[in-house]
Amino acid sequence: MAANAAQEFDLVVHNGTLVIPGAGQIKADVGIAGGKIVALAENLSDTAKETYDAGGRTVLPGIFDPHIHIGNEQPYESEAETETRAAILGGVTTVGIFLRSLEDSYFDHLPAFRKAMDERSYVDSVFHPQIFTERQIAEIPGYAERFGIRSFKFYMSGMPGIVKSVTDDVLLHGFRTVASLGPDAVACVHCETGALIDRARNELKVRKPEGTLADWEDAHPAIAEALAIQTALYLAKIAGAHLYVVHLSSRQGLAVVRAARRAGMHFTVETTTPYLGINSGDPNGFLVKMVPPVRTPEHQEALWQGLLEGSINTVGTDNTSRARATKKPEAGLHGSRPGLPALGTHLPALLHYGRLRGVPLEILIERATRSPARVYGIYPQKGTIAVGSDADLVVVDLELERVVRAEDLQGMSDFSPFEGKKLRGWPVATIKAGTIVARDGKIVGKPNGRYLPRKPAPARRFEWFRSAEA
Ligand SMILES: [Zn+2]
Repeated sequence: MAANAAQEFDLVVHNGTLVIPGAGQIKADVGIAGGKIVALAENLSDTAKETYDAGGRTVLPGIFDPHIHIGNEQPYESEAETETRAAILGGVTTVGIFLRSLEDSYFDHLPAFRKAMDERSYVDSVFHPQIFTERQIAEIPGYAERFGIRSFKFYMSGMPGIVKSVTDDVLLHGFRTVASLGPDAVACVHCETGALIDRARNELKVRKPEGTLADWEDAHPAIAEALAIQTALYLAKIAGAHLYVVHLSSRQGLAVVRAARRAGMHFTVETTTPYLGINSGDPNGFLVKMVPPVRTPEHQEALWQGLLEGSINTVGTDNTSRARATKKPEAGLHGSRPGLPALGTHLPALLHYGRLRGVPLEILIERATRSPARVYGIYPQKGTIAVGSDADLVVVDLELERVVRAEDLQGMSDFSPFEGKKLRGWPVATIKAGTIVARDGKIVGKPNGRYLPRKPAPARRFEWFRSAEA
């Protein structure tokens, strides 16, 4: 922990309380050189080119949001800059991006996606291509080999005009191919049973041509999520794949997760800050429409319990930025579009709603840093504060209260699903690769994000994870 006496630092963060997942809260200075953390000690008095006084506030590992979409509204290259700008202001320093190519080989698109993340992004990134075709499945080993991709996503239920669903045979074939990459490879699944969703949506159109946000839940019944998780678990077990359930939204889904964990199954479950922070009675109405839907407070409290007890391992956003003009809240229950921006509010929402419920800070931060970093093979480079880790840090003022306004968030969206809500606990500085990039709600540095190709991990990493989860 002691600094080398002769060491020169690029940056020293003084006077902060570090939240280190698995270790607790520790008062220490952080010495940074070459974009890495090189010293943690009580009083780093060595020479530093720059110092930042945390003023007794809390210093977290940079947040890793493992679940975002970009390029759904503006061109990918544009959102690679604007949405990661919102991310870094909000304390998010690494993202997992669900790439979408409905028909083409990803080989046609990966070089451009990667270039955008290397040249325009404020945050580091990993990719999770969304797999729709047999050809894409056949190319999974190539995506791994040439682009360092270790995680892939499958939709059991599509969204009309946006994504297609895959049938169970494709899912099993895809799982087997992912599993063949090695024990660290991850099969992410949008778990909703397509036929149940299609029927529910069609019935809702007849029963309620008009309606409120609360009615949207009927288009995506919780039983469809619960059933799909059961199916995905069964197929993942047969294939020997590491299943990652994205965006768990319901009490019924959680019940299936708990039962499977009791039966000794090893898998990972994610929820999102929109589900944790917003319910279906929200006054922002269809600005909050997403898939799966935000649900009643009963579901929300179940998700918080799942996060606290560890049934839910990770928390992301499912960020899908839109403008109000294309979101079209005025088009109502069936006409408004799903998808919402949530990167800029991810950490404040987690801190605010979690602490309101008495969830310990260490647990909130673990689910948003170390846990997803382990699952996706980038720990301990990311997800902790340790000598040798990347110097990605977020200084938060846990008492700072701010009312959410879209224009302050600085993404491309002109609305936020949290618009008008007062949240307590905001970043006051974000340090990315040793550079202060955001400070006091303003961008003060240039984009310095990088795409992170991943290497096949030794088997023991996943084994460790499995035994920790068992
Ligand atoms: Zn998503």
